[in-house]
Amino acid sequence: MKMDRRQFCALGTAGAFAAIAGGMLGCSSGEKTPAADDKAADAAANTQADAASAKAAAMAMGDADVNFAQEVDILIVGAGISGMFAAIDPAAAGKNVLICEQNGTFGGDAIYSAACQMCSTAKLTQEERPEKYSTPEEIREKFAPYYEEGDPALDFTVLLQTWSGKFIDRMHYDWGYEFQPLRESPYHQAFFPKDGLCTMNSEFQLINQKLEEAGAKYSFETTFKTLITDENGEICGARFTKKDGSIFDVKAKAVVLAAGGYVSNQEWMTRYAPEYADLGNIVSGRKGDAIAAGLAAGGQLWKMGPTSNLNPRYEAGHMLGTFYPIICVLPNGKRFYCETAVHNAATGAIAAGYHEWYTIWDNVAQNGQDQELLKHAGEAIQSADSVDELAEKMGLHIETVQGIFDNWHDICEAQEDAEFGRTLFLQELQPPFYFIRNVPVRYKSLGGLKVDEQMHVLDANDQPIKNLYAAGCTAGTEDIVPAAASGLIVAETLVAEV
Ligand SMILES: Cc1cc2nc3c(=O)[nH]c(=O)nc-3n(C[C@H](O)[C@H](O)[C@H](O)COP(=O)(O)OP(=O)(O)OC[C@H]3O[C@@H](n4cnc5c(N)ncnc54)[C@H](O)[C@@H]3O)c2cc1C
Repeated sequence: MKMDRRQFCALGTAGAFAAIAGGMLGCSSGEKTPAADDKAADAAANTQADAASAKAAAMAMGDADVNFAQEVDILIVGAGISGMFAAIDPAAAGKNVLICEQNGTFGGDAIYSAACQMCSTAKLTQEERPEKYSTPEEIREKFAPYYEEGDPALDFTVLLQTWSGKFIDRMHYDWGYEFQPLRESPYHQAFFPKDGLCTMNSEFQLINQKLEEAGAKYSFETTFKTLITDENGEICGARFTKKDGSIFDVKAKAVVLAAGGYVSNQEWMTRYAPEYADLGNIVSGRKGDAIAAGLAAGGQLWKMGPTSNLNPRYEAGHMLGTFYPIICVLPNGKRFYCETAVHNAATGAIAAGYHEWYTIWDNVAQNGQDQELLKHAGEAIQSADSVDELAEKMGLHIETVQGIFDNWHDICEAQEDAEFGRTLFLQELQPPFYFIRNVPVRYKSLGGLKVDEQMHVLDANDQPIKNLYAAGCTAGTEDIVPAAASGLIVAETLVAEV
């Protein structure tokens, strides 16, 4: 199936606004959609230096004639949790589904994540932990204060939260996955994988099994470059490059953009979340390529901004607080947040004027069941047999470190944390001690392509762009469960429409 450039156009992305500013790459006419033009004009500001190289690379790509190597019903960009869930139901319904993924395996960010799956709308929530269950009306009431009156993003949040329950229930009731039984923790609205924190691999093995049983296929090490349109300007496929640099054009009736967010795109972070732009980033390959492609196709952005929280470089430095007695202190020896409100660690340190903090624990956590969490920190974890040795290794004055333990002793004895209100795990630590020095990092982005409640990508007039869908962070979700939920929603849409 070889078509020349008059018949097919590649919509440029090259992973940067810079490339969008170059227009629809590869179109022989050089035409641009008005929406793409407006967005490009806005987005192109301050990007001149990067523009030249990005554009040159993308133009070379776009110049090659479209030559479809494969034809499918549904083409999904990205094998993260949203892309995988987008694939399963349509494949089971007999559609020919291909997922193209830049990496060598599936799972995206979630497979390496802390695996804390917040959900209060599942049947399983109702059954196991009814005090945490919420109806859609209660969800709306809870989230309404965070949105302006009439903001469609609130409806979308309610929709995602409602479908979040379907993800948990699909895993548990339909597929037999046993989440971890409830443990003492402030997070009873969260589900964890059966083997504890950071063990999402077991869930992904099952999701992958269901995907393969349904008949969906992957093409790994296949990197998305541009969308392709037909002679009527409608999306009809996408262009990828393979590991060896060769071009791989795929024809499809529907394209789902599920390539994650833009946290590793420094330029976008500076633009949309400047307060986090100067922090380190622990995620690679989330450059917003798919979001840029949706914009070039006439889509619009929504919800762009800073994420609800930050991460520590090493997750043990905050996530241990979910289940174990830990003490977190700044270099001045002061505690600075309630350690069981785990995600307040990084933002709390910054708010206190620091870009580092220490987390101290003992054998209760070190020998606990969440070994994978500790493994993620590797050799960053140090141990000490006494307070003196701890002070020496932490590089802090012995009086400062002794003060940490004296203060903690008083809190444990009183069983009251007057300063931060912590009520769980008020237990003294015993040697040997373990500690980690941490820094705040960014690890996810917020905002993406505006979609409707069926996950169609919307144009500037809020009309669906034909054959184009988005899910997960590409559509502006922030966490694991809403990403999976968005995959389930787009799956239902695709079964009906393709
Ligand atoms: C360290 C860390 C810890 C986290 N902990 C939690 C947690 O405990 N709880 C929680 O709810 N959330 C957590 N998150 C966030 C959560 O993992 C994400 O929100 C979620 O996984 C997003 O899923 P997704 O499918 O939208 O995107 P992703 O998981 O980003 O998947 C996108 C996929 O697309 C691929 N891709 C990207 N660009 C291209 C391209 N050009 N061509 C082809 N493929 C491409 C990527 O390789 C990836 O496989 C964490 C994230 C990180 C990084």
